[in-house]
Amino acid sequence: MDMQTKIHEKFVSLYGEGGAAYASAGRINLIGEHTDYNGGFVFPGAIDKGIVAEIKLNGTDKVRAYSLDYDEECTFGLNEEDKPAKAWACYVFGVCRETIKRGGKVEGFDTVFAGDVPLGAGLSSSAALESCFAFAINDLFKNGIELAELAKIGQSTEHNYCGVNCGIMDQFASCFGKAGNLIRLNCATLEYKYFPFNPKGYRLVLVDSCVKHELASSAYNFRRQSCERAAAAIKKNHPEIETLSDCKRIWLEEVRGEISGEDFIRAEYVIGEMQRVLDVCDALERDDYETVGEMMYQTHFGMSKLYEVSCEELDFLNKLARKMDVTGSRVMGGGFGGCTINLVKDELYAPFVEAAKKEFTAKFGHAPKVYDVVISDGARKL
Ligand code: ADP
Ligand code: MG
Repeated sequence: MDMQTKIHEKFVSLYGEGGAAYASAGRINLIGEHTDYNGGFVFPGAIDKGIVAEIKLNGTDKVRAYSLDYDEECTFGLNEEDKPAKAWACYVFGVCRETIKRGGKVEGFDTVFAGDVPLGAGLSSSAALESCFAFAINDLFKNGIELAELAKIGQSTEHNYCGVNCGIMDQFASCFGKAGNLIRLNCATLEYKYFPFNPKGYRLVLVDSCVKHELASSAYNFRRQSCERAAAAIKKNHPEIETLSDCKRIWLEEVRGEISGEDFIRAEYVIGEMQRVLDVCDALERDDYETVGEMMYQTHFGMSKLYEVSCEELDFLNKLARKMDVTGSRVMGGGFGGCTINLVKDELYAPFVEAAKKEFTAKFGHAPKVYDVVISDGARKL
């Protein structure tokens, strides 16, 4: 039985006659890592794993929400003091509150929802959940809130109700995702452009190392500070720049003697990564997936050796991909754990996945998880 049917059956058994169904998606980021806080582009796309929710107004001032995956129901009001105790329900509550804060109408409704984005694997199941409800509520109550603002509703939900101080990329990708398209997004301005992604003869596969090293949050702050120092040094010669995204590689060379070696290589990575995003966009317009793959390897090299946010497990998976002639492979996300994203020729898919599982397990004592992804539609009514 498919997810939507299961949800519908549960909905009918709990709340009577069925309602309208909505869906949204998790996301990948093909390239453009640690560029967002430097004013540069990220390059995400929605995936074929997401959240589906059935919703119907119930004529009260309460929400009754049922999570099929947790097999739990939660009832809550719509005022600030009604924040539910269950973590998963806070996402739904937060979206309601953030909609109300923007002048949108929200009244009581019943909902049953479920999802197939693996939790905490770097595919942003939380953004999928937020955008599904942000989109559904906007549609049901005819609030007329624009899609970009729906993404911000999701982001503010994380900030204000879930204690996660995230950027906008995940929610944006989840709201704006389109099958066969990636989105080149400037997270600061929300300027975006779609690029075709139809890798015929290749598959996208994530290999999840299932590790998360604790370094991540302090290292993140250090990296940011390095970037700011490098940009400030460059700005002395080129006052027009604000962030590293405005900097040319040769301008970094000019300040080599003025900044620390560490700040230099951090900036070198970021400036290189900005260029790689643009190169990937050009390559996609020519259907040149070999170049896309090469850029992915270069990103991995940069993240590992210059930005130094990789780890043994991810370098191992990347090296294995290279050894097996996988077209492209890199760590996805902030680093220090999580997944590699791999662009793999159809005929190499099975041997690569098998080798990754076997060799990784032999080396690290636990099996990686493997997720196939296809670039798909984001938030929508079913
Ligand atoms: P991710 O990286 O996948 O976004 P998060 O920790 O940010 O990981 O979000 C995961 C949380 O989102 C879960 O702990 C849960 O509260 C909520 N969530 C995500 N998907 C579901 C689902 N299918 N059903 C219920 N809650 C979900
Ligand atoms: Mg999340």
